[in-house]
Amino acid sequence: MTKIDFRPKQTLGQNFLVDENVARKIVNSFAATKDDVVIEIGAGLGVLTKYLVEDCKHLIAVEIDRHLIEKLKNQFSMLENFTLLEGDFLKMDFEPYFSERPLRIIGNIPYHITSPVIFKIFEVRQFFKNLQLMIQREVGQRIVAKPSTKDYGILSVFSQFYSKPQLVFHVSPNVFKPKPDVESSVINWDFENAPEFQVKDMELFRAVVRSSFNQRRKMLRKSLQKLPGISHKLGEIKFDMRKRPEELIVDEFVELSNLLSD
Ligand code: SAH
Repeated sequence: MTKIDFRPKQTLGQNFLVDENVARKIVNSFAATKDDVVIEIGAGLGVLTKYLVEDCKHLIAVEIDRHLIEKLKNQFSMLENFTLLEGDFLKMDFEPYFSERPLRIIGNIPYHITSPVIFKIFEVRQFFKNLQLMIQREVGQRIVAKPSTKDYGILSVFSQFYSKPQLVFHVSPNVFKPKPDVESSVINWDFENAPEFQVKDMELFRAVVRSSFNQRRKMLRKSLQKLPGISHKLGEIKFDMRKRPEELIVDEFVELSNLLSD
């Protein structure tokens, strides 16, 4: 276990990975090559950074903490294939990198920003080969959850719509300093091998998924009533509206929203 000479800030979700074997395992499973341009979210003390920068063509590390920025600069700024971006990942614009291929993204991120990070990447997924994150184990379970399970919800449907998500492995709290209260999992969203769906109206598809799960115990007929402009179609379409959202596979959400868009 590595010692850390830094006082972690809870507000920034700082739990540093201090087990080199786990760090190597994460970077190995990501398997960057010399063709890859990689963005790392929350580089911290650089535990993944030092391996990633060796593997890939260009590493763009993002870090919000000014003190860590100084440390990262000292350790990596002499490397030609290293770029450091200071600030909040959620507010950053990565458009300048969208012309790079293959573009990939990785991070052991603060768990309180998991959903916003995932949805930010989903918006621009066409530019990325994959996303690999260390997240809270429960959230990971929701991402890969199958229909008719308690974990199946908005995160599952969107993850399985936009990508082919996969659990890479679980990680014990004992390999972090400070030790988090929760177990972790490494999850990979493979955008290249996402299934293909024909969605007629993306806005409506998204609204249907969200509204359905907002009241996950209710029948679709009931929870979709509040969606603007479609209530008159609910009784007409050929779809079993007595179902509950957790019973629908992604294909069925697509089918339902397509029927409602006609
Ligand atoms: N990846 C490192 C650090 C994990 S802790 C490791 O595995 O050890 C999470 C890191 O994300 C911290 O360095 C924290 O300062 C940084 N961070 C927190 N919020 C951030 C944000 N909004 N944007 C970018 N970095 C952030």
